[in-house]
This record gives sequence, structure tokens and C-alpha cells, in this order.
Amino acid sequence: MVVIGGGPAGLTAAVELVRAGVPVTVLEKDRLVGGIARTDSYKGYRFDIGGHRFFTKIGQVEKFWYDLLGGEFITRPRISRIYYQGRFFDYPLKAMNTLGNLGLWTSFQVLVSYFQSQLFPYPREDTFEEWVSNRFGKRLYRMFFKTYTEKVWGLPCSEIRAEWAAQRIQGLSLPVAVWNAVFGPRRSGPAVVKTLIEAFQYPRLGPGQMWETAARFVTGHGGAVDLERDVVRVRHADARVTDVVTRAPDGTEQAVAGDAFISTMPISELVRKLDPPAPPAVAAAADGLTYRDFISVVLIVKQADLFPDNWIYIHEPGVQVGRVQNFKNWSPDMVPDPSTSALGLEYFCTEGDALWRMDDAALIALGRQEMDKIGLVKCADVIDGTVVRQLKAYPVYNGTYAGYLDTIKDYLAGFSNLQTVGRNGLHKYNNQDHSMLTAMLAVRNLLGERHDVWTVNTERSYHEEIRVPRDALSSDEAGVD
Ligand SMILES: Cc1cc2nc3c(=O)[nH]c(=O)nc-3n(C[C@H](O)[C@H](O)[C@H](O)COP(=O)(O)OP(=O)(O)OC[C@H]3O[C@@H](n4cnc5c(N)ncnc54)[C@H](O)[C@@H]3O)c2cc1C
Repeated sequence: MVVIGGGPAGLTAAVELVRAGVPVTVLEKDRLVGGIARTDSYKGYRFDIGGHRFFTKIGQVEKFWYDLLGGEFITRPRISRIYYQGRFFDYPLKAMNTLGNLGLWTSFQVLVSYFQSQLFPYPREDTFEEWVSNRFGKRLYRMFFKTYTEKVWGLPCSEIRAEWAAQRIQGLSLPVAVWNAVFGPRRSGPAVVKTLIEAFQYPRLGPGQMWETAARFVTGHGGAVDLERDVVRVRHADARVTDVVTRAPDGTEQAVAGDAFISTMPISELVRKLDPPAPPAVAAAADGLTYRDFISVVLIVKQADLFPDNWIYIHEPGVQVGRVQNFKNWSPDMVPDPSTSALGLEYFCTEGDALWRMDDAALIALGRQEMDKIGLVKCADVIDGTVVRQLKAYPVYNGTYAGYLDTIKDYLAGFSNLQTVGRNGLHKYNNQDHSMLTAMLAVRNLLGERHDVWTVNTERSYHEEIRVPRDALSSDEAGVD
């Protein structure tokens, strides 16, 4: 068995395979395992690509985590706020805190704007802007929805489809939020959507610890996890994949044969690497899938306690940073010197754009300036920094992606010994748990069961949203992942 990619999905597949006594080789192009859920390090400071909460409603995934990492999990309280115009807003928004921050006059204007939107709503709700404004009023939309969403997707909210909002903010409106904040939640009537994670599990040394442990489990049970092996060609004949060709950093190529293949690499890349090439319509569909990329600028700061949050959403329009992680608040063991802190400044970008092209020194300088400008950290307190780039962090759901994906899916279904799983492997906004579940199902398919991995997580992102009887205006509408 050959597994392409040593991220959560690939390593889950490999663990399940060695448990079933099936020989497996994992081919990972990076020097680290864990994929987007890896933990990188710099001078002893450990950091995630974003912050990775471990939360799931899938029993078998939870069991997998605890069987492998057991006592190494710590429970962390979730603290995250929105930073807007020099003030911290509790997130999920809370009535008194929001009113106190906005002041009476602005709060009044928010209400007037809401009633205007009720009286004269946008007649169509095609876009994110229309959908949110109709439910919250234009003023609140501009304060708490527009800036961050535009930073994340690099598009004006007037061009982002309404489905994105509907999936993430379902069940919420201003009256629901105010009702819940003032009177407490109703068990019937307007649904309350609440960010689920008030507390979450986190490996003491970051999510990479989970995947480093999984890789050791695989090698300890007779499997192989080969790092720095970029799969550059996927060769096939008679509707079967015969072998893959890997390239090492020194350019040497090696073929790896197998009787079955599980791929977690981005599905568009899989198509492009097929040898012989996919039919033109399928190749065109692969070219049509798009992604949002991601840069984390890690700043090491000479301050023991900066703020209590795990992360802060930056809604300030005057800066490009979208979110700031404080890794020490995820786990104290992420930071080697307790008199310092390490922040991860998240910049959402697209490969090749101005941010992506900036060199590391310029990005660190930008991060320092922006932190100073918005008053979170003084320039002089930043003593060091590093940069991590993540291509294809977010599969983009735009107006055309579903058709392209169907074309690719139909074509790949013709291969009898190839399954694609995971997040980019399915071009689906899967968190770790869903990515892992698809891998588990793929392994069970190999063992004779029949599961459709494409049906996992079809109703999208329960990870962050669930209907529970609690107060607050919430959902991770302000955020992604
Ligand atoms: C900013 C951010 C925050 C997130 N936060 C959370 C969170 O809090 N909780 C959560 O559960 N999930 C979170 N996620 C989602 C989580 O990261 C993914 O669900 C998970 O990493 C997907 O696992 P995967 O194995 O499918 O893909 P990946 O993590 O993308 O792994 C794929 C692997 O394949 C390798 N690969 C690719 N191409 C090749 C090739 N040609 N040859 C060999 N190897 C290859 C890659 O190097 C990578 O290691 C977050 C994601 C982002 C972007």
C-alpha cells in the first residue's frame, strides 16, 4: 500500500493499515510530518500553521487521538476576541461588552441600521454582503464581518457567495443575538448557534506531536514514512495506478510501486501528475480549482504575558494581518523561555501576490510594524522572528468549483486502486477529524467494506458551529478554521 502525504489523513490511513497488518509506505514531500497540522519550530519555539484545536464528535477519531497520545493532551480554555478600532470585543460577542465598547451613540446607529435593513432589505441574497446585511444591518456588517472576511478570501464581500455566510452563520440574526444576551437562551424559537469550543484539547507540544507520534507508530509496526519524497508522477495503465515517481531534494527520482494507492495531495495536483495525462476536460477542471494560501509571521516577544487570548481576530482595516495566535496560551510548553512569548501573525494571501512575494525579513518587519500600529506589541519588544508559508491552506468554494470537482471525481472513480482523501485530497473544507475519517473509510474500503468518502462533512463545519442553548452572538463567521 502506498499513501501519498504524511499529514493527518495520510498518517491516519497508515496507522489503520499497519494495525490491520497491511504493509504501507507513506511518501511525504516535506521534512516534517503533519501537513497543515504540523508543528514547526525555531530556536526552541514551537508553532502551528494557525492554531489547531482538537475537537471532534466522531468517536473513532477521538479514540484514535487518545490511543496514540493519551496523557499528552491538555485541556485549554478558549479565549478569543475581536480587535477593532483599538478595542477588544469579546468573541463570541456579548451584549454588555459590545455596548460598552461601542458606546451608546454607535449602538443606537447599529440599531437604526438594523431596522433600515429590515424595512429595505436587499431583494436578493446572492452575496455575503447582502446576506449578512439583511440579518444584522449594514453597520454591524461593516464592523464585524466585512474586513476580516475580505482579508481571508482576498475578495470584496460583494463578490463572495451568500452560501459561505449561510453555512457559517446559520441560525443567527441581530434579534437572536440580543435576545440571548439580554434574556438568556431560548430552548425553542430562534435557534442559537454557538461556537462549540469553550475549551478544547491540545497536545502539549502542538498538533505536530500527534502526527510525529503517529509516524513513529507506523514505523514501529513495520511501515515506512519516507520524508522529503515529492510525488512528481502518478503512472497508470488499464485504469490502475501502477507506481508513483518521487523526487528527493537532490533531484534523484525513484519509483514506488504498490497494489493500492491513497492520495492526500491536492486533487488538482494529482490530476496534473497523472502519466499518461488526464483528458483535456479533466485537466482543465483541475486548473479551475483554486486555493487561498497562508503566511504565518512568528514574532518572539520579550514579554511574559501579552494578552490572555489563544487568538485574536484583527478587524482593523488599516493592517493586513488577519489573526494573531499566542502560542504560549495554547500550551506553555510551546515556548522555551517563560519570560518571552511567541505570536503567530496570520496573513491570508494568494501564491504570487504582493504578500507572498515579500521576503522573510520584510514580512517580519511588516508584522512588527502592524503590531505596534494597532497597539498589541511594542516594536522594541520584538526580539526575533521567523516566517512559515503554507500553500493551499484553504480550498476555495467559488461559483465554478463544484462542477470542476464533479468532472475530476467522475474521472478518478475510473481507477480501481486509487482513492483520494483528506482536505485538499477532496477539495473540501475538512478539519482534522473529517480528514481523518475519510482516511479511515478508505482503509475500510481496502479491507472489503464500501464507503463513499465524499459524503463525509457534507453539511460543513459542525466543528465550529452547533446549536446549543447558550447566550451570545457567535459562530466562527469571523474566522476560518
Ligand atoms: C489556518 C488553519 C487552521 C486550522 N485549524 C484547525 C483546527 O483548529 N482544528 C482542526 O481539526 N483542523 C484545523 N485545520 C484543518 C487541518 O489543518 C486539516 O484538516 C488537516 O491538516 C488536513 O489533513 P490532510 O492530511 O488531508 O492534508 P494536509 O494537512 O494538507 O496534508 C497533506 C500532506 O501531503 C503532503 N503532500 C502534498 N503533495 C505531495 C506530494 N506531491 N508528494 C508527497 N507528499 C505530498 C503535504 O506536504 C502534506 O504533508 C486548520 C487549517 C488551517 C489552514
